[in-house]
Amino acid sequence: MSSALVINSGSSSIKYQLFDDDDNQLLAGVIERVDNHNEAIKQLLETMKAKKSFIEPDVIGHRVVHGGERFSKPSLITKEVLEEITNLIPLAPLHNPGNIAGIEACLQAFPKTPQVAVFDTAFHQTMPASSYRYPINEAIAEQYGIRKYGFHGTSFSFVTEKTAEFLGKNKDEINLVILHLGNGASACAVKNGESFDTSMGLSPLAGLVMGTRSGDIDPAVVFYLNREAGMEISEIDNLLNSESGLRGMAGNSDMRDVMEASLNDRKASEALEVYRHRIVFYLSGFAGLLGEVDAVVLTAGIGENSKQFREFLFEDNPLGIDLDKRLNDSSNAEARTISSETSKIPLLVVPTNEELEIARQSRMASF
Ligand code: AMP
Repeated sequence: MSSALVINSGSSSIKYQLFDDDDNQLLAGVIERVDNHNEAIKQLLETMKAKKSFIEPDVIGHRVVHGGERFSKPSLITKEVLEEITNLIPLAPLHNPGNIAGIEACLQAFPKTPQVAVFDTAFHQTMPASSYRYPINEAIAEQYGIRKYGFHGTSFSFVTEKTAEFLGKNKDEINLVILHLGNGASACAVKNGESFDTSMGLSPLAGLVMGTRSGDIDPAVVFYLNREAGMEISEIDNLLNSESGLRGMAGNSDMRDVMEASLNDRKASEALEVYRHRIVFYLSGFAGLLGEVDAVVLTAGIGENSKQFREFLFEDNPLGIDLDKRLNDSSNAEARTISSETSKIPLLVVPTNEELEIARQSRMASF
């Protein structure tokens, strides 16, 4: 029996999961308040060895947020690959440094184990130029790599595969709109099993309204705040990434709390309206671009767990989608249909599992 260790290393925390060959989770946890990644990984190795059921991992898969244009697939980590991930730091200054620190610590602690980088952006490298290009000066766009990259790729990849299985179709024959609604949120138009368009952009700030991120706004807001409010660029960055979205509008980034507050709080109910409006806008746009849609799929924390939010989202039957209240209320944790038979497009809930997808992709890349 062999196993795959999945590491999701941020700047101050390291999440880990260990899977056996049959995709069973053997171990999972999080190390918080990390200030030395080498020490934290050593501690993890000790924790793993202390388990009676310890199986030395034969591959380690690392979540890496930004793979730029360079990485369209998981990559076995070599000195060159690590250098290239380091060169991408300017595109993801909040994420790639923590990912790199985790990789370096694991290279030290597990020098003989093959290690693989799995990128959040890779799934979207199939997008056509009409989706990914920003209509700005071409020379500047090329020089600085300014384009749409998209994120949540491992989640969209996993959910596409699962949905094809659920629908009993070949993956390369299905068109989907997937709504990944968690604390971070994005939509993906999947055409013939591949990413055709997505709502996040150069960074994970664009697109849908999120827990603390604004999603789309007029870029002129940035110049305006800088000029008129005297805010520094770093303050505006913080405002849009950490103090906006549900938190900015309703004072709370957690959907459970916002749903509850909306019963008697105007700010919370208005925030929900904006949140829903933006999702329906992307859903309709992506359905229009795809032409035919086999299913609309909900996933991640809110999509999988909040029957109240799902009911609210489809209250006005966007695109003729008809949510069946009874199916919606079932607390089944498997992939399932929650629309009625008369719905114009089937509506599904498909639980995501980004860690398992990283384990699977790492195994394949290490052969
Ligand atoms: P994620 O980032 O995928 O872990 O999702 C986090 C989001 O899911 C938060 O906004 C949570 O409030 C939301 N969430 C998780 N469980 C539930 C639930 N049972 N009802 C409503 N929202 C939920």
